[in-house]
Amino acid sequence: MRSILNKYSEIRNIKSNIKKYKYEFENHRIYTNISRCEKVGTILLILNTILLIMDLIVYKPMRAKTSSYIFLFYSHITVIILILLWFILLKMHKKYKKTLSLRVYYILLINISLYWCMFMALNNLSIGGQISAYLICILCISALLYISPLEAFVTYFISMLIFSLGIFHIVHDIRSLFSNMVNVVIVALFAYIASNINFKHFSQDFINNKNNLESKKKLEETNRKLKEYEKLRTDFFANISHELRTPLNVIYCAEQIMEENVEKSNFYDNTLNKYLDMIKQNSYRLIRIIENLIDITKIDALNFDVNFENYDIIRIIEDITMSVADFIKDRGIAIIFDTEIEEKIIACDLNLIERIILNLLSNSVKFTEKGGSIFVKIHLEDNKVCISVKDTGIGIPDCMQELIFDRFIQVDKSISKSCEGSGIGLAIAKSLVEMQGGSISVKSVLGKGSEFTISLLDISINDDTKNKCANQLERNYMKKVRIEFSDIYE
Ligand code: ADP
Repeated sequence: MRSILNKYSEIRNIKSNIKKYKYEFENHRIYTNISRCEKVGTILLILNTILLIMDLIVYKPMRAKTSSYIFLFYSHITVIILILLWFILLKMHKKYKKTLSLRVYYILLINISLYWCMFMALNNLSIGGQISAYLICILCISALLYISPLEAFVTYFISMLIFSLGIFHIVHDIRSLFSNMVNVVIVALFAYIASNINFKHFSQDFINNKNNLESKKKLEETNRKLKEYEKLRTDFFANISHELRTPLNVIYCAEQIMEENVEKSNFYDNTLNKYLDMIKQNSYRLIRIIENLIDITKIDALNFDVNFENYDIIRIIEDITMSVADFIKDRGIAIIFDTEIEEKIIACDLNLIERIILNLLSNSVKFTEKGGSIFVKIHLEDNKVCISVKDTGIGIPDCMQELIFDRFIQVDKSISKSCEGSGIGLAIAKSLVEMQGGSISVKSVLGKGSEFTISLLDISINDDTKNKCANQLERNYMKKVRIEFSDIYE
């Protein structure tokens, strides 16, 4: 009972959905039926032409003796004429787009073939044969065409009525009449059920297609809106970052002028110096946050320029490490630099390398207690230059080791040293390494320390090595170190 109710509600569902697209559905159904009818019509035409040729050549002598052969001969001629007419009218209809509904054409073809087969079956029955022509035809129609339950009922019922009258007229033996009638009724009933199932599946497919199309459209619309919002967001970040930079520069310059004046006037005031230092460190912090925001915006907009040039990577890393060592000398953390090779020229972007290494070092300093150590090592491995920054700090839990490279991810403050930070440093570092064709990874044991390793491609470009190495000598990392370490307070 429940399954019948389910079926009923399913059919009601289909019907109510079909109502929404009634016009489109009917159009689709009629065009599918017409295209199938064209194929069936062609087959019927060929079949009847062959039969007519056989009538003219092989069955000619029989025609003179048996009236059934005469009837068949004329039936073939009639069907050929009707189908040709059908094709001509259909072509004209399509060409001139007459208002007469195309539906008429497939109903016409169904009836032409049905009544032709009915005639053949009755003709055959009259000479003691089978009625299979009609039965096959009605089954083919139910399988090939999508006709509505009403169309199916009317078509099958009327043809069955006429066919039964024909049988009554020809067959007088009760047993054979009964068996023929049983065959006709069963097959007509079966054809009606098959037609309904066929129609239901066709409707269901149509609705599914429509729903899929609508979901696709909605998805495309949402995608388009998302892209618009994303552009708005990127523009907003780019604007706001530049807007913040201007007043910040003013504050920073004012602080520097004040510092110079204090120095020149030889006026030493502990409190004033403390406040000047506060302004300076917080200006650096803001500069760092704004630079990170600008970088994220550029990375998202795929607008980040990478300037590859040949540099001695050993020298760069050593210089940065030494600058950091100078900067944190009072913190009680040892920084040890070690390398397997004296010189290694590779193509990289100096600014990006500085940002990456300073970020890793500032994290190590941030998360290592007094008395701890930081090791910076360089070695070669499989055509790659590997730079590792290892510390004896608080370490990172296993479950967080992948996640810390995602934006705004920080290890739970309750298990990490309470430090400032925005959680975007490593995400940016990862992007900057990848932009240079490299990769970054971490190994860490909670409570024992962490080791971040960057692998850069060991390749160089044209031979301007000397110039770049000379430029390297002139670089002063101190301001960059101050900016990168600005969120580490005493
Ligand atoms: P920030 O340091 O600004 O919060 P990062 O992206 O640089 O952002 O780091 C993300 C998080 O990864 C940090 O908040 C910290 O929890 C963890 N982390 C990074 N480096 C280390 C390290 N050397 N030792 C322990 N934890 C670290």
